[in-house]
Amino acid sequence: MFNPDAEARKKTQRALSKAFPRTTEGFAALLHAQLYFAYIPLYVYYMRESFNNYLPEPDVLVKPRGIEFDIVDELVKTAVNECNSKAGSLMTNSYHAKVLRLEDAEQIVTLTEDLNLGELPKTIMPYEVAKSAIIEAADRIAIIDCVCRNTRGEKGCTPRDVCIVIGEPWVSWCLDRDRYLNGHIVTQDEALKVLRECHERGNVHAAFFKDVAAGRLYSICNCCPCCCTALLSQNYLTAPMMAGSGYIAKIDMDKCVNCGLCEKKCNFLAIYRDANNHVQVNEDLCRGCEGCLGVCKKEAITLELVDASVLAPLDIKALKAQMNA
Ligand code: SF4
Ligand code: SF4
Ligand code: SF4
Repeated sequence: MFNPDAEARKKTQRALSKAFPRTTEGFAALLHAQLYFAYIPLYVYYMRESFNNYLPEPDVLVKPRGIEFDIVDELVKTAVNECNSKAGSLMTNSYHAKVLRLEDAEQIVTLTEDLNLGELPKTIMPYEVAKSAIIEAADRIAIIDCVCRNTRGEKGCTPRDVCIVIGEPWVSWCLDRDRYLNGHIVTQDEALKVLRECHERGNVHAAFFKDVAAGRLYSICNCCPCCCTALLSQNYLTAPMMAGSGYIAKIDMDKCVNCGLCEKKCNFLAIYRDANNHVQVNEDLCRGCEGCLGVCKKEAITLELVDASVLAPLDIKALKAQMNA
């Protein structure tokens, strides 16, 4: 959607500008943010294209229609190349999003007040430039189309309207400035329904803390390993873009009948066969996404907390309690 009301767009612009520091770096980041939020589908298309041929099964990608200006095309391509040139720092060596259990994701979409947890510990933040969990206007929520799924054209999984953008100025930007996201405002209950339906499908819930959102939390994505740019990159380029939820899966071998359903389902290729052909969890790869729990008919899988000094859950209630203690 593109809001024809110039005043509304100016207001959104001012709100976005405020999210970035008034420094040379802050100004550069703001320009990058404007490009990103105005053309997310094109951005993701070029990101996906940059590693498509390295995947075991490259896709025929579908370039988003309707972005006619050569200058935009070149600018977005340059921004993506710039991100990729930082491989080893921002894009690959440090995380881009944090996997959430359903329960933790639900806490975020049902916030009834602004959230400002200040500087969060490194064990929670997904990457270096992400510093705090701040959500302004927490009850302003929009659903936008999943640009990763759209990039695969008809092969992309459905439904597509599963990305949950939370708080301002991100919601207004997605609604007022981006013509290609099919964004619309939803209530918290509607967002919860999307989360739960995605959970039933075994999708990964992930809180994105992008540098283009000033390192702040701005969306909860519901991703599948076949379409998601971040997951494909994590699983096949070994670029760890998603930090774990703070939990890992454990299999109770007394209950497990070695049926292999969890192995097929695992979103992070973390379940393997040992020398005795029995399923095991690779704890280095497991991101505690809960995807395997839903498919195990023997209830043999549980999630266990990781050592909190290494990785902690983004549990809003617990974090608030800690900060008020
Ligand atoms: S990160 Fe996940 S939900 Fe978000 S656009 Fe990509 S696949 Fe879709
Ligand atoms: S789905 Fe459950 S029973 Fe089947 S192999 Fe996995 S843990 Fe074992
Ligand atoms: S083992 Fe289970 S919890 Fe761990 S990454 Fe795979 S699906 Fe997610």
